[in-house]
Amino acid sequence: MRAGGSASDAAKDESAADAAPPIEPSLLRALQQILDFGRDALHVRAAILVLKLGEGDYSPHFLSSAPEGEAGEWVDAIRAGQGGLDTVLAEGRPVRLHHTARRSGGGPADRWLRVTSLLGIPMGDGGLFFVEKEDGHHFTDADERLALFLAEQAAAVVECAHLLAETRSRCDETVRAERLSAISTLASVIGHDLRNPLSVINNAIFFLSSKIESDDARVNRHLEIVRREIRQATRIIEELLDFSRDRAPQPAPAPLRVLLRDALASRRIDGQIRVEEELPADLPLLYVDVVQVRQALAHLLANAIEAMPEGGTLRVRAFACDAGVAVQIEDTGVGIPSEHRDRLFEPLFTTKPRGAGLGLALVQRVVAAHHGTIRIESEDGQGTTVTLLLPAAER
Ligand code: ADP
Ligand code: MG
Repeated sequence: MRAGGSASDAAKDESAADAAPPIEPSLLRALQQILDFGRDALHVRAAILVLKLGEGDYSPHFLSSAPEGEAGEWVDAIRAGQGGLDTVLAEGRPVRLHHTARRSGGGPADRWLRVTSLLGIPMGDGGLFFVEKEDGHHFTDADERLALFLAEQAAAVVECAHLLAETRSRCDETVRAERLSAISTLASVIGHDLRNPLSVINNAIFFLSSKIESDDARVNRHLEIVRREIRQATRIIEELLDFSRDRAPQPAPAPLRVLLRDALASRRIDGQIRVEEELPADLPLLYVDVVQVRQALAHLLANAIEAMPEGGTLRVRAFACDAGVAVQIEDTGVGIPSEHRDRLFEPLFTTKPRGAGLGLALVQRVVAAHHGTIRIESEDGQGTTVTLLLPAAER
């Protein structure tokens, strides 16, 4: 939702701008009380607060206090810049404006003509506005002082909300970091403990297969099952160990083509999957930790391959951009249902019967350590495109 209360309708046609972050219910209540109080105390028709919370290019929130059924119209009037919104913002100081009410015969412009006097207090990118429609209404110095006081109160409420949001997000980060570290420790212990017995089993199977020359198809089939399961278990252990090795990256210039080739070599690719590479010849070298980025690419390639059990196309694209090199891994697989999108980077989140759920968490960590970005776009049933932005070496 873009705006609170009755003003939400007024904001919905502004689809070009991003959606504004939602306002906390407690903040909304406090601001509403300030508006209601101001409207009563100043004896005016409506009080409107125009508010931009946080950074970003989105349309502001419009909150209002007005008689039943009129809120949307007052908000529209202020939004349309009528009554003096632009003047207040441009002047950067309290403004009192008085218009002469012209009674026109109706039509869209009629609405804002009802603003006959306005008292506006600028607040950052927005402001606090009091409007009256009766002719002859004049705001006094005392009105202005009260409005200034209320705007300060509203600003203090907004400031508190910012602090609250910041504290919450820090807490979330701390919890996430602690969780990651606990999982890393566990992954390391399990990975190391299982790696040795598994390699012993692997050697033993190799020895046994060489000794058993059986014509019995069932024996051979079971040997193959053991080998397959060992491969699977090894893969999970590698994933656990990859995840447990959290260290600062040691970047060096590296060609993406080679990293991709090595990452692809570590995955089995079914004949049903066509691999297409679109890497421009003049692509700049990456400036990354080769081991970490190869691992991250391997995880993304594995996800793409696993998403196409019936086959499909795995396309890897790259291009230079201002921020470095963009690497896109695209599959024509099962896609990601919208209800899973928020959980993809959560460690241990998996939808696969034998998945460890650590791949994307690892990729995100590697990308963050390189000050890069990751974006996942997916259409359920159509395929998925993961775009990494990684630093480039200077040419
Ligand atoms: P895992 O592969 O072990 O399940 P990941 O962290 O690599 O763990 O991925 C988490 C989940 O994200 C997967 O289980 C899957 O549901 C979804 N996912 C990731 N990549 C893709 C993809 N390319 N196509 C479809 N789903 C994907
Ligand atoms: Mg995976």
